[in-house]
This record gives sequence, structure tokens and C-alpha cells, in this order.
Amino acid sequence: MEQGIWLDSDKLGQEDEVREVLRHGTLSMGFIGLAECLKALTGAHHGETEEAQELGLRIIGHMRRRMDEASKARRMNYTLLATPAEGLSGRFVKMDREIFGSIPGVTDREYYTNSFHIPVYYEISAFDKIRLEAPYHELTNAGHITYVELDGDPLKNLTAFEKIIRAMKEAGIGYGSINHPVDRDTVCGYTGIIDDTCPACGREEGDVPFERIRRITGYLVGTLDRFNDAKKAEVRGRVRHSTGSLHMPQAKERVQV
Ligand SMILES: [Zn+2]
Repeated sequence: MEQGIWLDSDKLGQEDEVREVLRHGTLSMGFIGLAECLKALTGAHHGETEEAQELGLRIIGHMRRRMDEASKARRMNYTLLATPAEGLSGRFVKMDREIFGSIPGVTDREYYTNSFHIPVYYEISAFDKIRLEAPYHELTNAGHITYVELDGDPLKNLTAFEKIIRAMKEAGIGYGSINHPVDRDTVCGYTGIIDDTCPACGREEGDVPFERIRRITGYLVGTLDRFNDAKKAEVRGRVRHSTGSLHMPQAKERVQV
């Protein structure tokens, strides 16, 4: 407080209360599993039907409105968060399954889908995913992310990479991420995409495995060891998002190149 990090805290005296300064902080409510919610209500999630997407925007729009109303009434910063939910994604679905049983597309997996995301297992193009998730970014003023999963090496197709970034920007994605494999040879230190042999030192993957770095809920990891079972199941279930006519060279093709 003395260092003026909080808004208005520089005006405080040694013996003043901090009440009015703490008002500048935020109080956020988050949510997970919009996809499963829509599946339960309409029989389809928002990647599958326009009807589900419309309902999804109404639900999240309503939640945001309630936050804004509370902010106005209480003069505090209530905000809506698109929760990435690490522990919660597995815990909630387990609790619900005990009550409601296993419902296809709702409680039959080990995890609930993050926030407003299209389910990770659902086959959809990168551009459709961006188009459908973007409107939720504006509604979730406490934070949000949209990511697309690419199988290939973006360096081999910078045009496609740029087109995805631009599509995100045009659609109104506040925070976008492109996930793609990054490998590292722990022996020689080479970082890049390694197929069967390291391009730097030429060694094959034998007793010392190459490190395969992946992105899990914002963390870049070389191993899944420290993630819980729900998150591991989610990673296993992830599909890559196609970029349509924009060709991303795949692993096998790169070997031929
Ligand atoms: Zn190497």
C-alpha cells in the first residue's frame, strides 16, 4: 500500500483504513462446462448446432449482466471468468455422475470442458472454433483464452500461422493461443520439432528419450506426470484442428522433406 501499487493507495496515511482502496480489486465468478450444459439442455453443444450456440451466448450473457448489476449496486468490481479449471474439471463431473449417472456427452467423460470451449475431442476446423468461441471473450471480462491445436510445425507454414492469428484478431478473441509440438533433445540441447532423429546431432531416440513439450491449461510441460487424472484424460482426448486448405506439413511428410 505504501508503494502505491493499489489505485489510490498513494493517498493513504499510515493510520488510514484500506477499505476504500481494496474496492479497486476484483471479485470474479467463474464457470466450466458450458458445452456439457448445452448438451443436457438441447441435446447438442455449441460446436454442433447454431441453436446451442445462441443459448450458450444467452446463458453467459445473463451471467455477465448479473456481474455488472452487482458491480453497479455495490460499487465493487464483479467480473465473469472463463475458468480453465484444473482440479475442478474432474471433481465436478464425478460429483454429478454420482447424482445423475452417466449421461452421454454430459457426464460420461473424466472431465468437464473448460469454460465456454468447444469440447477438445470434437472435430472442428481452427476457423470455426475461433468464430464460435470469440463472442464469449467479450462477455468474460475477468479473463479468457481460446486455443487451437496444430499437429504440424508452424515454421513450415507461416502463412497458415498468420492467417489463424488474423482470424483471431478479426473475430474478437481477447487472448488466443496456438498450441503446437515443441521437442527438445536433452543430450545436445536442440529445440524444435524432432521426428525420429535429432536434426542437430543426428542421434536416434534410444535410452534417452526426447522431451516432447505440450501445453496444458497454460503450462508448457515436457511430461504429464504432475497433472491429475482428469487433465490427463483431457489431453488424451484432444483432437487437432484443421486449417482447411492451409496445409500444415505433418510429421511423416516432414521426414520425406
Ligand atoms: Zn541432438
